[in-house]
Amino acid sequence: MRWRRDPEAARRLAERRRREDEAPRLVAVVPKLETLGIRVLEGMPSISNPVGTHTRRVVVPTAPALFVLPCGDSQCRDGGHELTEQLLAGLQQEKLQFEGEDCCRGVTGGSECRRVLHYVATASYRAV
Ligand SMILES: [Zn+2]
Repeated sequence: MRWRRDPEAARRLAERRRREDEAPRLVAVVPKLETLGIRVLEGMPSISNPVGTHTRRVVVPTAPALFVLPCGDSQCRDGGHELTEQLLAGLQQEKLQFEGEDCCRGVTGGSECRRVLHYVATASYRAV
């Protein structure tokens, strides 16, 4: 997350840090997990081509079992994507690759944001 010098952003960052600290560790929830990468594609519902794409490597040994991605629209208020449940479910089933979608519930310019985030998670697991 980029640091912006406004109190709202600082408050959200603090809130995010607190949630990450309080969450269980990823290795405690999915002990066999070895590597995890999440490819993220963001776009508007009406546009088939994503406006942004990036891949995040998760540092499995230290990562919290919490996957909350910020909304890609900097104007968006109270938006973001809560992917924790979906991702943990896939990892606990030891899926090698799985994907899903989440629609932002934030507000931008007085109307619903509705940005769509599509993710593709790629994981590997230890044998025992
Ligand atoms: Zn949004």
